[in-house]
Amino acid sequence: MKNRRDFVQGGALVAGAALAAAAATAQPMPKKRYADRLTDEAGRYAVAPLPFPSDALEPVIDAKTVELHYNFHHKPAATAANNAEAALAKARDGNDFALVKHYQKELSFQLSSHLLHSIYWTNLGGKGGEPKGDLASALGSEFGSFAKLKAQLAAATTAVEASGWGILGYHPVTRKLMVLQCENHQKLTAWGVTPLLVLDVFEHAYYLKYQNRRGEYVNALFNIVNWDNVAERLDAART
Ligand code: MN
Repeated sequence: MKNRRDFVQGGALVAGAALAAAAATAQPMPKKRYADRLTDEAGRYAVAPLPFPSDALEPVIDAKTVELHYNFHHKPAATAANNAEAALAKARDGNDFALVKHYQKELSFQLSSHLLHSIYWTNLGGKGGEPKGDLASALGSEFGSFAKLKAQLAAATTAVEASGWGILGYHPVTRKLMVLQCENHQKLTAWGVTPLLVLDVFEHAYYLKYQNRRGEYVNALFNIVNWDNVAERLDAART
């Protein structure tokens, strides 16, 4: 099946009258295989625009929190990851690795932050409810039921020590769905896991509105999860 890029690249096909004809016959848009974009054309880490207006997550997450989070926590992570790579390139050129530990840690932390935040935004903006189709079946077989998965994910997320994330992931080697806690942006992963749904529990994600009530924020997040996005991610991770 063609993806959207193929569709656009086959521009002649959809030009002018052909476009009108296609619309008239109500052809469904080709399904796009899900992929995050973390870099720009030059290969530098770059942050995609928010997929919704900053007030789109109200009342679960207020607009001010979204704006601060995106501009002052997500964006700087991409910049810092670029800076860490530049510093490591300089270290190689000068054969001076005195600060290698610092910059390796910095790269791991900041790039993981950029990746998880990129997923977080696209996971949200939905209407919550329950997942459907293959995702629903997979959650049922792995966790017993959606309700049990939700209970475990919410509890694991709320219980993250200090700053971090709750994550629903898919492991392509074991072909299992799994819940993980993540401390900071990079600790406690299982190597190779593909994050499908990530719930940010750094205080910057919720403190303006929820203060110390992390569990209340985590439960409210389930009202704005975009399960279609999670399902697209599972579909992509399995193929
Ligand atoms: Mn965050």
